[in-house]
Amino acid sequence: MVKKILVFNVGSSSIKYSLFEDLNLVDSGNFEKLKTKEDYSKSVEEIFKKINGNHISFIIHRVVHGGDLKKPSKITKETKEKIKEYSEFAPLHNPKQLMVIDLCEKYKKTQYAVFDTMFFSEIPDVAKFYAIPKEITKKYGIKRYGFHGLSHEYVSRDLKGKTITCHLGSGSSMSAILNGKAIDTTMGFTPSEGLIMGTRSGTIDPGIIFFLEKKGRNAKELLTEESGLKGLTGFNDFRDILSKMKKNKDCKLAYEMLVYQISKIIGSYIVALGGLDNLVFTAKIGENVPKLREDVCRYLSVFGIEIDKEKNRLNSEIISSKKSNVKVFVKKTNEEKMAVEKVLKIL
Ligand code: ADP
Repeated sequence: MVKKILVFNVGSSSIKYSLFEDLNLVDSGNFEKLKTKEDYSKSVEEIFKKINGNHISFIIHRVVHGGDLKKPSKITKETKEKIKEYSEFAPLHNPKQLMVIDLCEKYKKTQYAVFDTMFFSEIPDVAKFYAIPKEITKKYGIKRYGFHGLSHEYVSRDLKGKTITCHLGSGSSMSAILNGKAIDTTMGFTPSEGLIMGTRSGTIDPGIIFFLEKKGRNAKELLTEESGLKGLTGFNDFRDILSKMKKNKDCKLAYEMLVYQISKIIGSYIVALGGLDNLVFTAKIGENVPKLREDVCRYLSVFGIEIDKEKNRLNSEIISSKKSNVKVFVKKTNEEKMAVEKVLKIL
């Protein structure tokens, strides 16, 4: 019998839902600018009414932080405790996701959680730990968890060998994957580490934080909401950067910094993987900006990576030239479908 599966992707001020019949998407929608618990509650009720929630087989929630959890978890009291425990690591997301799980309980459907961190739960120790006192690592669980795992897994799951995935959206991360298993990723203890993002600085010298705090500035707000592309240019939408960069020096520099960072990390991941078979671009920027892919691949010509300009211009699935040492892909990500596949697998 066909299973009807409702997937929730709850953000810090939004609820996206997708309705699947087995692996086929049949309905989806987005509720934005949600502030209070009532806003979330009303949205959940509307969704259940719209999709005729009585006929749902089960519900899946995408949860940002699952700590060391390796697999999708059925929602029980213990799972909720865990999600709550990891709220401290993902304060914008986990509490809202837990709230929607609670709001769904009255519909008496089995619920599952899939975690953005799962894909990275087994990265090797050399990539996992920070060089901070051991007892601090242990006491607080400060280590690399990685995020966007569903996306990195989705776009790499058909690829064998050595793969690098670049998820470039409003939040961005990259991952090194060996035969389907992640071995490194750019996001770390929180989704603040790594690449320049829409409003996040990405990796910076921790000394900057000490300095800002000494000056009485709110480092957290500055580095997560006012930095990245927005901090460099005033615009956090990559489309603005692209359209203005011919005349606007700040936009040009922000673009070049991002291309440089991505290329440099690819170089380091080629070393981590001991070579490269596949390079994948995904998420809205990765999927839609041929110029960025071309400019990154220009840096990578030293590795014999070459793209076919026409295929790249068309956002084709394979954009590498026949001569290229590495296959270069443009893949549309689908985190919700990956979530459904993962839960169906454990059932
Ligand atoms: P996330 O899931 O992290 O929110 P998305 O994959 O939806 O990220 O990407 C959103 C960002 O991608 C937007 O903020 C915008 O900057 C950029 N973007 C969206 N569409 C395009 C496009 N057609 N061309 C270039 N950039 C785009």
